[in-house]
Amino acid sequence: DRLVAADADGEDRAVEAALRPRSLGEFVGQERVREQLSLVLQAALQRGATPDHVLLSGPPGLGKTTLSMIIAAEMGAPIRITSGPAIQHAGDLAAILSSLTEGEVLFLDEIHRMSRPAEEMLYMAMEDFRVDVVVGKGPGATAIPLELPPFTLVGATTRAGLLPPPLRDRFGFTGHMDFYAPAELERVVHRSARLLDVPVDAEGAAEIAGRSRGTPRIANRLLRRVRDYAQVKADGRITRRIAADALDVYEVDASGLDRLDRAVLDALLRLFGGGPVGLSTLAVAVGEESETVEEVAEPFLVRAGLLARTPRGRIATAAAWRHMGLRPPAGSAA
Ligand code: ATP
Repeated sequence: DRLVAADADGEDRAVEAALRPRSLGEFVGQERVREQLSLVLQAALQRGATPDHVLLSGPPGLGKTTLSMIIAAEMGAPIRITSGPAIQHAGDLAAILSSLTEGEVLFLDEIHRMSRPAEEMLYMAMEDFRVDVVVGKGPGATAIPLELPPFTLVGATTRAGLLPPPLRDRFGFTGHMDFYAPAELERVVHRSARLLDVPVDAEGAAEIAGRSRGTPRIANRLLRRVRDYAQVKADGRITRRIAADALDVYEVDASGLDRLDRAVLDALLRLFGGGPVGLSTLAVAVGEESETVEEVAEPFLVRAGLLARTPRGRIATAAAWRHMGLRPPAGSAA
């Protein structure tokens, strides 16, 4: 329920379909991945072949699902979408694989969370376009080989390093997705605003982009909240002032920190002089579970260069003091 969470919530899912770029040309940013992928797809089209399997790695909300749909669209192929956690038994995977049509794209989100037996079945399917379906149990069990039509697997994972090497090696191409630069997010905001028919000026888009943590999904979500504000409190147009006022109401600050992030920084600075302080002590001071502080707040604070994890505990950087409008005490960890 955080406005700055990178994972999709129900409302996101409902509107994301409408905001998804449909071709590589429309897809903003990620120049390197786009260029590499475009070569892979063009070459396959010229040869009249099915493209190599593609692995997309990167944090949530950066466009992995979108890219998989674009791959299918560029190839003029249908797409089947599923995820690692949905495939608990090898039989689940066999059912999907055996119903694929020639050239179809199979998108497997969170591929690192597939069960072991399913993973092993996938190795053979990716390499030889064949699976062994085991019928029966115990000594009487028999493996029936099943030929599959050529297909393209697009796997998505938050960390390619989590994949077992035999799986990773079976992908012909791996695209690493990075957080978006502010100028790229501005383009995402302008594009989405056009599709939602909301007038936004350059500064308004920049204000939203700057608070979006390098993530298009968050940019689109903040845009929707700012649109509400602009409609209710003003004439519907989004300017810098309107965007800033709206996001202040929702407690998303100029760098994209929300209430929880700021509470953690505030405790670290005011109560513990900038640290070092242990995670559990910091969590008690904020009134949250250690896991919440560690997994929900800290990753972005670390990425933003505001907090560091050291063997002696958490410390605030000089930028954290500045960000919170405080002066570091003499001799502080900063
Ligand atoms: P998750 O792994 O959480 O499903 P994801 O990486 O698959 O996330 P998507 O669902 O593809 O992310 O993208 C989230 C939203 O962000 C979509 O609505 C999409 O429109 C938008 N988006 C993502 N990347 C881009 C981009 N490069 N240009 C424009 N919009 C984008």
